[in-house]
Amino acid sequence: MPTTLRSSKDDALNSEEARQLLSTCRDELDHLVVRLPLFAGLRIGEVQHTLKTWVNWDKGYIEIPSRQHCSCYECKKFRQGAWGPKTKAGVRALLITDNTKQALASFFGRNEGVFRSRQALEQRVERIPLAFWIETSVGRCQEARC
Ligand SMILES: [Zn+2]
Repeated sequence: MPTTLRSSKDDALNSEEARQLLSTCRDELDHLVVRLPLFAGLRIGEVQHTLKTWVNWDKGYIEIPSRQHCSCYECKKFRQGAWGPKTKAGVRALLITDNTKQALASFFGRNEGVFRSRQALEQRVERIPLAFWIETSVGRCQEARC
């Protein structure tokens, strides 16, 4: 048994690291892929299925529905053409920051939903932190003059 237990808070990004991570985003969808999990708590499958209608613009939250029609490959093949959270606890409302609301408004100004495959979003999830790691490692390296 380990002598010390780590909390997930030990791995949480501080505000400067979050700013640096966001600076590696290439487009509006990158911002949603980072912001929705980091600042609102959405899972990648929820990001994939986010619709413009989920956002309550006046009150500033996203409402995850219990079920919605979906024609993505995964939902057609494995879920009889419908998507919903895996558990009842997944049906919830999540507060969004003003900056996240602006990112959503920007993206949904031209889109009714995210409408990307899980694989496409996972590729972004892999690329963005890699760019972040390279950027911050270079920054730390310059600070140390190596
Ligand atoms: Zn789907």
